[in-house]
This record gives sequence, structure tokens and C-alpha cells, in this order.
Amino acid sequence: MQGLMQHGALTLDKIIDHAAQWHGGREVVTRSVEGPIVRTTYAEIHNRAKRVSNLLLSLGIRPGDRVGTLAWNTARHIETWYGIMGVGAVCHTLNPRLFPEQIAWIADHGGDKLIFTDLTFLPIIAGIIPRLPNVEHVVVFTDRDHMPADFRLAGDAPHFKGLLCYEDLVAEQSADCVWGGFDEGTAAGLCYTSGTTGDPKGVMYSHRSNFLHTFITMQPDVMGLSQRDVILPVVPMFHANAWGVAFSAPATGAKIVMPGARMDGAAIHELLETEGVTFSAAVPTVWQMLLQHLESTGGTISTLKKVVIGGAACPESIIRAFHEKYGVEVVHAWGMTETSPVGTLSTMTDALEKLPYDQQMPYRLKQGRPPMGVELKLTDDDGNALPHDGKAFGHLKIRGPIIAAEYFRGAGGKILDADGFFDTGDVATIDEMGFMQITDRAKDVVKSGGEWISTIEIENIAVGHPKAALAAVIGVPHPKWDERPILLVKLKEGETATKEEFLDFLQGKIAKWWMPDDVVFVDEIPLGATGKIDKKVIRQRMKDYVLPTIAAAAAGTATLAAADGAGAPVLYAPDPVETPEDVAEAVEPVHEPEVLAAQAEAETVSAEALAASLPDPEPTPVAHIAEAAEPEDVFPHEPLVEAEAKPLEPTPETAFDAPPVFVAEEAPLAMPIQPSKGRKAKAAKTETSGKGGWASPILIGAVVIALVPAALIVVGALGARFGLLDKAIAYDLMTRDLAPLVAWLSLGTGALGVVVAMIGGVQRHWKRALLALAITIGTLAVLFLATGVGGR
Ligand code: AMP
Repeated sequence: MQGLMQHGALTLDKIIDHAAQWHGGREVVTRSVEGPIVRTTYAEIHNRAKRVSNLLLSLGIRPGDRVGTLAWNTARHIETWYGIMGVGAVCHTLNPRLFPEQIAWIADHGGDKLIFTDLTFLPIIAGIIPRLPNVEHVVVFTDRDHMPADFRLAGDAPHFKGLLCYEDLVAEQSADCVWGGFDEGTAAGLCYTSGTTGDPKGVMYSHRSNFLHTFITMQPDVMGLSQRDVILPVVPMFHANAWGVAFSAPATGAKIVMPGARMDGAAIHELLETEGVTFSAAVPTVWQMLLQHLESTGGTISTLKKVVIGGAACPESIIRAFHEKYGVEVVHAWGMTETSPVGTLSTMTDALEKLPYDQQMPYRLKQGRPPMGVELKLTDDDGNALPHDGKAFGHLKIRGPIIAAEYFRGAGGKILDADGFFDTGDVATIDEMGFMQITDRAKDVVKSGGEWISTIEIENIAVGHPKAALAAVIGVPHPKWDERPILLVKLKEGETATKEEFLDFLQGKIAKWWMPDDVVFVDEIPLGATGKIDKKVIRQRMKDYVLPTIAAAAAGTATLAAADGAGAPVLYAPDPVETPEDVAEAVEPVHEPEVLAAQAEAETVSAEALAASLPDPEPTPVAHIAEAAEPEDVFPHEPLVEAEAKPLEPTPETAFDAPPVFVAEEAPLAMPIQPSKGRKAKAAKTETSGKGGWASPILIGAVVIALVPAALIVVGALGARFGLLDKAIAYDLMTRDLAPLVAWLSLGTGALGVVVAMIGGVQRHWKRALLALAITIGTLAVLFLATGVGGR
């Protein structure tokens, strides 16, 4: 038996419809890419999103087509999201922090037909368009005065018709557009995973999944959003949908503050204070920068109540600083692009809330518990469930209506187990209170003698060494134990150290058999586009590395027995005398002040290193091993699966000559914004080409023809009245003979206009078509009436 309730499809247009109708005056504030703070409202966003929909339809975008956005968090970006999704097209957020080659690959794999972008990303656009044969237009989020005067592509692209000016197009389009009317399972958004392991894979969100995610995130124990909040999403819209905030803010009617291109500590602090922000969300590096800014300037926080921190493990120093110095609650969260992204949050339970803050801290440092709608399980390699005892660590698996069921174009094949759970690729523990803690990525965990070693645990401790700037642990092959861990250390500026110093530092803090077999000092530890240590690149660089003991055995200077550990003073698997409790105890997170301080410092260094590493499209060589390493293909291309996907043309080297502009979270892009007032009319025409479509001129012609009879009569009458025209010409020729003739002709052109409107888009053209017909019919009626009463 079915329930007897109404079935409203959960489509995302309803969110912005609701915001416009019930919170229409609520502000949306943007630090614009052009510079000034710009204010708008949900009502205005709704109106302009409808215009964007009409623009898309006029450019030939149809339901299911992918439309790319390479853009900052701004009101224009929100309008465009809703404009795209409202007509059933798919919003494909592109991450500008990737290398241009990767962006081109992702846009091509996604099948993007049109791209919206900010001025700051035009150098990237210039490089990638020659590789995107389906992209005919790029719409620039700016007004005519800021359109670039001298945009040049870095390569041949005969298919490309030019840049279009967003504000011009929005002004020209009608705000009448019908949204929705499709199934809630329809695709709404596409976002590629960062691809630190293998090619990026597209996660295709549906209207329903994003709608449910919105409800989930609004709950008090999740983000706890309300109409009274002022929300600052620092996390970019291109990083897993800004954690859903571009949906949940309008859904609640909260004021939203968009940071644009500036995410440095000073810029974020200014927005927090001037706009009265109460809630914000970002990765740890952003908060580290804010806290440093506050520290150095003596700044204060007056309205902020809560921050959600995720994307990477949140150091204790950040949680403490927010709580103790500024009275702000930190909610540590875990999630992935594949999970929409919210998966778990370290919200305190009623029992924990009653404990002293220091006793809450171990739980606040964990990634937390799942909200209703998300199911978690922990398994061993064979899929057997592991206990929730906070010690056993295994594969973290997740299920629910906001979790990916497969990747776009079937990449990676089947991704769910027999029970429908998705393997997150993370290794974790879950404790008795239900708090999950990430201990590693499954691909990174070191398997020694059949047992797992958490690389993150060792790294977190090693980076606490006073001389360490960054630390990374990877597994290297071992003939007997399969793999053994080695520790790579980047020292702080001007420091020198020995291996023994680091091994001694780890003694007693980890299980004995976790002790790295070697310590390698490197100049650089590569970071990926989201600021995480890129172990794929490290493994590639270290592929010719051989453990010193094994190299010595091969050279005959040591016995193989020594190489496989026999007789050596190190352990390679859990010591039989070590109980599992000992091991668990030894690897329990360390909260010593110097370790935590260093963790925090490592986050900062990460941001700096990220800034330094991202603009360089060539991998940075690792000291001591660079000579041995082969040139690496960190981004291999796979043939595309779907027939409609076109293979990439080989990219001319010149395509990426334009200096990469994006650097890191804290560094705003620096492309000069050149006013182009008085630019040539020709260029203006090119940039706005296609704005009216082919139907517009025909319909304008029909309206003009319809007006001609009336014009003839009026001119004839005035000419005769003032003696300028002979009556024979004014009345006989113009009014009696020509006017009816043209009126009959215009009846034909008006009818033709209706046909044209039906082909060219009824929604856009019906007004002009009906106007032409109405004028004609009106004129004919007047003429018949006049003839009827015998008047000339
Ligand atoms: P992405 O899909 O790029 O957002 O990356 C998702 C991955 O980031 C997860 O699978 C985790 O490995 C990592 N991650 C996300 N949040 C956290 C967190 N709070 N602590 C540790 N790792 C995290």
C-alpha cells in the first residue's frame, strides 16, 4: 500500500525558489574579483539565475549537458549554479589548483560544452581551450568595463568563438524561465576527485542527493545552520560543493558572505568582523593563517561562533586556540568528494559535553560520528567486520543516499561491495563512543609481515621533531616482510640532522616494529592540489630506492639474514611479547605540546610549500634521489569510454606558456584586471556574439514590418495636415493603398514570426512574435473599421 502524501521531486531549484520567496531580502555579500565588496540578495540571485538559464538555452545547452565553472566563491558563481541546475543541465566545478593539463583532461572527460570563469583564470583558459574541442564559448564573470582587451589563446582553436561578457548577457536575458519538472534523480553536479591515486574520477551528484545532503548538513549536530546565521564558506565551491553551503545557506535563509579570490588571514578576518559572520567552514591551513594573523596583529573575533574544519586532520593547536582565545567552537569533520561530502563530525555527545574540555579533546581530535542518513562500517582485508574498540583499524566503508554509487563514465568499474557500501580508501578506527578516527589512506598504509603500520601516526610524531619541517612515510619493498616503512624528512631552513636523531625521537612513541628502516632527508615533500602530501609522486620518485640493508646484502657486504631482519636489533612485525594493547597504546595519538605545535607548524609549512609547488608544472626533484628517478608521468591519460568523448589533441608546449596564476589557498590570483573602456566595437560584437540567437533578428524584422502600416497612415495624415504632402499621396497612396497592402504582408511575417519563435525557443521569443501579430491585427481592424464607416 502506498502512502497518500504529495510527491514533490527533490530538485535544487526549489531551494533558491524558497530563499527568494521567504528570505528574498537576505543579503549575499561578495568580495568581488574586481576588488570592491558587492551586495545582492537571494531575490536578486534568483532573478539572475533565471536569466542565466535563458542564456544557456540560447547557447544551445540542453538537459544533461555539462557546463564547467572555473571560479571563486562569488554571488555570480551561485547564480550560475542554480541557472545551470534549474534547466536540468549539469554544473561541473573545475578546480583551478590543478595543473592546466589536468584541468583540460577533466573538462574534456566531463564533456563540458561551455565554461564560466573569473578574470583571474583567463591564463588557464587560454592554455586549455585548444584542447577542448567542444567548448565554443567562455563566459567571463565580469562587466564590460573589465573585459580583457587582449585575450589570446595559447594555440590553435578554430572551434572557439570567443569570450562572452557575463553582465551583458545577464542584462539582456529575460527572467522568465520554467525550472524543474524533471526527475529528482537527474544529474545536477559533477566534481572530480583530486586523483592523488590514479586518474581523477567524476562524482555525479543528483538533485536528490544534494537536496538530502542539504537537510543533513542543516541539523543541529551537523552544521547546525539557521536563518539567523551569517555564513562564510571559505571552502571553495569547486571543492566538493563548498561542503554543501551554497545549498544549505539559501535553504535556511542565512546571510552568506563569499570571499572571492582572497583567503589570506587578513582578508578573512576583515570579512568575519565587518559582516558579522557567525559560521564558517574551511581546511586547517586557512584557519592556521587566520590564527597567525590574529596573533601577529592582536586582532579579535567578535561574532564567529562555530567553524567546521575538515579535508585534512585538524591539529589540536587550532582547536585550542579557537576555544581558549576566541570562544569559537571547532567541529572537526571528515568527508570526501564521493560523500557529497559530509561523512562524520566530531560533535560532542551529551555525555562528552559534560566532561572537562581537556577530557573532550581526544574525541574532538577524532573525525567523529556519522549523521542520520550515513552508515559506516569497518572491515579487514576480507570484508569481515572489525570491532568498534578504538584500537582495531581497518577499511572504512560508507553507505547512504548521499554517497556515490559509481563514477562518471564507469571509471574504476564497480565501486560498491555486496552490501552497497563504498570503500573510502581510508583506514580508520571506531571507538566505543562511535567516534571514527582516520589513521591512514589504504594505499599508503605499510603492510609489514601481514600487519598494518599507520604512516600518518609516524608522520605526526616525526614532524614534532624540532628540526623537522615536513615528514612523510612510505612503504618500500622488502624480500621477507613485503614492505617496510621509511621516513622522508624535510628539515627546517638551515638545520642539519642525522638519521639516529629521528629514530631516537620515535623510540617509545610507536610500536617497535613500526620503527622506519631508514630516514631519507629531502629538499621537498610534494603536495597535491588540495594541500595533502602527494605519496603517489613520492613513491614514483623513490621507485629505485633500495633499503640500505638489502643493498649491502646484494653488494656482498652484509648477509641476507641481516637484510631480512634476522639478527638485526629491529622488529618487522608485532613482537609476540607485545600484546595488542601494548601496540595500540604505543600508537595512541600523541598530544604532547611540542608534537602538536609542530603539527600546527607543518600545516603552515604545507601552505607555503603548496604555494611554492603549485605553479611549477614540473615535479620538484627530491634531494638525494633525484638522479635516480625517471621523468614521471604523474597524470597518465586513459582512453575515454563514452563514444561522445573526443580524444585529446596533443597539447602544444606553448599552450601552457602563460604563467600559471593560481598558487595556494592564501594567495589570491594576481592577473591584472584591465579596464577596456572604449574598446573596439568589433571586439564587442565578437564577445557578445550568439547572445540573441538567429531567431531574434527575424522577429525584430516582423515587429518593424507590423509597425509600417501605422507609420504610413500617421506620416500621411501629418504630411497632409501640415501641407507637406499632396492629398493624393498622403491619403490615396499611403493610407488607402499602401497601408492595407503592408498590413496583409505583415500578417504573413507575424505568422512566420510565431513559427520562428517555436523553433528558436518559445520561452525566449514568444513576446516578440505575439507583438508583431497583435500590431498587425490591430492595424487591420482599424482599417476595416475606417473603411466600414466610409471614412478616408
Ligand atoms: P577529497 O575527496 O579531495 O575531499 O579528499 C577526501 C580525503 O581527504 C578523505 O578520504 C581523507 O583521506 C581526507 N580527509 C578528509 N577529511 C579529513 C580529516 N578531517 N582528517 C583526515 N583526513 C581527512
